[in-house]
Amino acid sequence: MLWAEVAICSEEIFAEAEELSQQVAKIRQRFVVIDAVPIPVHPMLRAAAASINFLTAAPRGLALDYGIFIRADHWRDRALIAHELVHTAQFQRLGGILPFLQTYIFQCATVGYQNAPLELEAVATAARVCSA
Ligand SMILES: [Zn+2]
Repeated sequence: MLWAEVAICSEEIFAEAEELSQQVAKIRQRFVVIDAVPIPVHPMLRAAAASINFLTAAPRGLALDYGIFIRADHWRDRALIAHELVHTAQFQRLGGILPFLQTYIFQCATVGYQNAPLELEAVATAARVCSA
């Protein structure tokens, strides 16, 4: 490999590394530490949240697409953060907020929050990641 080729490769690697670090920075910016998970304002979302006891359960975290709310008293909870990241991956896999919420609320309404497949996937994946 010629020196010029090495230099070009290095520039590409540095550019990629910089892009990756910016992506990581963006991901970090998407975490929001809050005192309490916000209650939905929209009547249908509020009703859906109430139907799965989301509002009374005092949730510790909430993923909404790329945004993740973490209650301040659980900010260092690795399993919770991993759990919410799985939900973010589910948002991406299912095609966004609306398809995710339709599937998630349907599952919670039919088999219950504890047995909803999307919830079970998040619990199992977080447990696997945190035990490694
Ligand atoms: Zn969950």
